[in-house]
Amino acid sequence: MITRTAPRWQTSDWQSLLKSSIRSVDDLCDALNITVEDLPVARKAGDDFAVKVPLPYLQRIRPETPNDPLLLQVLPQALEMQAAPGFSTDPLEEAQFNPVPGLIHKYHGRVLLISSPHCAIHCRYCFRRHFDYDANTPGRRHWQPALDYIAADSDIHEVILSGGDPLSATDSYLHELVNAIAAIPHVKTLRLHTRLPVVIPQRITQGLLDAITGTRLKTLMVLHINHANEIDDDVSQAVKVLQSAGIRLLNQSVLLHGVNDSFEALSDLLWKLYALDVGAYYLHVLDMIDGAAHFLCDDSQSMALYNKLAAKLPGYMLPRLVRETASHTSKTPLI
Ligand code: SF4
Repeated sequence: MITRTAPRWQTSDWQSLLKSSIRSVDDLCDALNITVEDLPVARKAGDDFAVKVPLPYLQRIRPETPNDPLLLQVLPQALEMQAAPGFSTDPLEEAQFNPVPGLIHKYHGRVLLISSPHCAIHCRYCFRRHFDYDANTPGRRHWQPALDYIAADSDIHEVILSGGDPLSATDSYLHELVNAIAAIPHVKTLRLHTRLPVVIPQRITQGLLDAITGTRLKTLMVLHINHANEIDDDVSQAVKVLQSAGIRLLNQSVLLHGVNDSFEALSDLLWKLYALDVGAYYLHVLDMIDGAAHFLCDDSQSMALYNKLAAKLPGYMLPRLVRETASHTSKTPLI
């Protein structure tokens, strides 16, 4: 029997925190007392892909520090408006793996459901920053074609809730969706890809735990943390609460120039994840999405960095360094 630890912030309102997020370049600069180069163009970048920074995340950014690794992940820059060769609006060509609205079936045995069009934070390097969420977020009244698709293929043993961020949906929505998935006998595992426990740890409520663990499905959660500074005491507490509910936790990161492309940054992150018992799953090279070229680390630098980590850390702490390629139906390890 699983012993559950009650979240200590159960009375906190994560939705109010979400609503009070910073939503403009100017407000972000004012809050942190920084200036950006070429502000009018940076504002245009912020119009192209809206600014969204929740306050619990903002509090971890050092004021007056323009190169803060957390700030760089959320601050629109004029560089985003420069076209770069090889970058496009759909580098993974997900449209070709989209048999019914809201469902992506690329990998054998598992499908991805776009269960919410919203995120709690907007990461400037996001590979779905140009994704057509309007056409691909069916909502509870239109889930049936996706559920029918899953039910018709007995090879599908795992359903991945993605987005957007699936935890930006309400508990009742998730409860209904997870129960509908659990009613399909050949599905064994529910996986959630989320950044919400990191950016608003107050999202981890008892209602959420009940919604995602209340069925026969094995529940796995893949967090998205790129830098050790993203993990504060509240995030650590949220991790423990999730684990005490029987949820296995893994982490994936994106290798980002200026953010975590150093041995020290990645090593610090991996040690923190290890201390929290969160498995290091993937270190992704950047998906070549329009607007994110300034985050790119080249392959030789990425591999050299990875080899340095491998020389210093035990193998069980190492994520796999991978690239997602449109034409491949599995991730491609660089090493
Ligand atoms: S939380 Fe994930 S899906 Fe949302 S903007 Fe960030 S990287 Fe993209």
